[in-house]
Amino acid sequence: MSSERQAADAAVDWELVIGLEGHCQLKTRSKIFCGCATSFGDAPNRNTCPVCLGLPGALPVLNAHAVELATRASLALGCTVHNTSVFARKNYFYPDLPKGYQISQYELPFSENGFLEIALPQGPRRIGIHRIHLEEDAGKLLHAIGSEVLGHSLADYNRAGTPLIEIVSEADLRSSEEAYQYLVTLKSILQYVGVSNCDMEKGEMRCDANVSIRPPGRAALGTRAEIKNLNSFRNVKDALDYEFRRQSELVDGGGSVVQETRLFDAERGVTLSMRSKEEAHDYRYFPDPDLVPLRADPDLVERLKAETPELPAERRTRFTRQYGLTDYDAMVLTAERALADYYESAVEAGGPNSAKTLAHWVGSDLLGRLNAAKIGIMDSPVSPRRLGELARLLEDGTLSSKLAKEVLAKMWETGSAPKELVEELGMTQVTDEGRVAGWVEAAMAENAQAVADLKAGKEAAIGRLVGSVMKKSAGKANPALIQKLIRARL
Ligand code: ADP
Ligand code: MG
Ligand code: ZN
Repeated sequence: MSSERQAADAAVDWELVIGLEGHCQLKTRSKIFCGCATSFGDAPNRNTCPVCLGLPGALPVLNAHAVELATRASLALGCTVHNTSVFARKNYFYPDLPKGYQISQYELPFSENGFLEIALPQGPRRIGIHRIHLEEDAGKLLHAIGSEVLGHSLADYNRAGTPLIEIVSEADLRSSEEAYQYLVTLKSILQYVGVSNCDMEKGEMRCDANVSIRPPGRAALGTRAEIKNLNSFRNVKDALDYEFRRQSELVDGGGSVVQETRLFDAERGVTLSMRSKEEAHDYRYFPDPDLVPLRADPDLVERLKAETPELPAERRTRFTRQYGLTDYDAMVLTAERALADYYESAVEAGGPNSAKTLAHWVGSDLLGRLNAAKIGIMDSPVSPRRLGELARLLEDGTLSSKLAKEVLAKMWETGSAPKELVEELGMTQVTDEGRVAGWVEAAMAENAQAVADLKAGKEAAIGRLVGSVMKKSAGKANPALIQKLIRARL
């Protein structure tokens, strides 16, 4: 069997099984066990102290805000927050880890047994969350700068001690697309509850993927490879597709998957063996004697539960109900909390009848411009109130939809109010019957065939006539009036 043939058959012969470990930075101002700042982009080693540098005698003190955020995340993901969780030392040597161990949680994690729901074309699917634990991040090694310019590596400990939650999924994901949706959903939920921005480019979210294959219908899991170094959602998807093919071809060819850690090489699009997978006992986990067990405060948990905001899935459903949007539009608009807030402010300014128009403008026109300019919705030069005003001008007939889009383009460039632009540019729609009738008559005279088609019942022909009038009026004739006048002349 050729290898192409095997690759094509792989999806039929093997079931892909994926479990993800996501590390997300909590939005605290200071580190998890000391008062150093967590700000991004500061001069190297500026935000360090004896605690996060692991100097002898320094003692960690747990950041209460980190606990609060871990609680919010756990509740949003349906996890049970344990009354007691225990910090443990995960021991290994690497120069980015000044203490020689990472403070994490092992036997008694912060919370467990949750889920999140991913939206798939065939409907929603629940993915189990196995556990969430609190831990600190390591520092950062600057090999590239070091080795190219200096002949040795540099270490920046600004990140060391940054609070993270590790979110371990169940091995419930069955395709790279599901893994992608899981990450998008996780990011969206954590943003909604204000726990993490999950910006992968800033290192605020990292992900490891555990991958195995098995014959469909078999319950036992196959041997897994763990893929590291996945620093974008796109890379996760590509690495999983590659790894599925690699494992399928390997087993089809008579080989077997070995348990190992692999690295994704994004440039070549392949995973490469890094080391045989470490086992838990390699880390010599033990409870950290410097930290007392963490007791959950039931009042805090109850208060935070009550404060859990509307989550993306609920908001999506509400958008379809309240504004009559399609599932797709509602999904686009609710993926990011700030975007959904923007949309709702725009509808408030534009009135409920403008909800669909605004969904279209925000979800395609504006989002397209924002993406092209690489800016977020918060920095949009068009405010939601002004977008709402523009929708009103469309609704009261001042503007045709074509003119409204032109005004929107000008609003983007100038940041001006739509009313001012309409006056300035003389863009007001022409609703004067006499003027429109002049264009209609000219258009009908020039398009005898379209007129004949329309008379013969070919309704589509009216489009050609309307188009011709629009051209003559530079897009300013009122479309409803054009139609009315054409029909009156048939
Ligand atoms: P560790 O990576 O520390 O050994 P776990 O054993 O808890 O941790 O597993 C981590 C992740 O790997 C989880 O998301 C789990 O669902 C997933 N996983 C475990 N075994 C497999 C497997 N055979 N195939 C795919 N994913 C797996
Ligand atoms: Mg792991
Ligand atoms: Zn510090």
